Amino acid sequence: MSDIAKTLAASIRAIENYPKPGIIFRDITTLLGDAKAFRAAVDELVRPYADLAVDQVAGIEARGFILGGAMAHQLASGFVPIRKKGKLPHTTVRVAYSLEYGVDEMEMHVDAVKPGDKVILCDDLIATGGTAEGAVKLLRQMGADVVSACFVIDLPELGGRKKLEALGVEVRTLVS
Ligand code: AMP
Repeated sequence: MSDIAKTLAASIRAIENYPKPGIIFRDITTLLGDAKAFRAAVDELVRPYADLAVDQVAGIEARGFILGGAMAHQLASGFVPIRKKGKLPHTTVRVAYSLEYGVDEMEMHVDAVKPGDKVILCDDLIATGGTAEGAVKLLRQMGADVVSACFVIDLPELGGRKKLEALGVEVRTLVS
């Protein structure tokens, strides 16, 4: 593991049996509250995209908003919120998706991306990949070019990376 990955891993708190028995919840609020770790995480997330002319960073509610907003600022791109159903005020596109611990629906505004927009998807963690897969579907439905998806944490044994790669989306993660 690189020094940065070690620093980031040390700043993430593991909470056992949350939100359900058997789940180890990876809590990034401790990373966000650590100025050095937060900055390092955002710097590492944006690094591969610096020369890419990214149009939008799409963040998945809720922790993807925090990381994705900071990424968009650094990349001088727009930001697109992908939200749980019923939260966005304008006309939306909606998709059902499966989670490590349940099923839900997510939405995006119909005019949030333009056809051909280069979009980077961002969330705190990838587990089964169901959430990110739903977000990719929404973005592609509106004609976006989802060039990459990035996450602070990968839980590789749950297969999310492979699921996204099978959809033709490059995946970047900082801590495994
Ligand atoms: P998945 O769709 O299975 O890849 O799950 C990823 C989404 O669920 C992300 O938005 C994560 O924030 C959240 N999530 C799933 N598992 C965990 C976990 N063990 N710890 C923290 N967040 C998780």
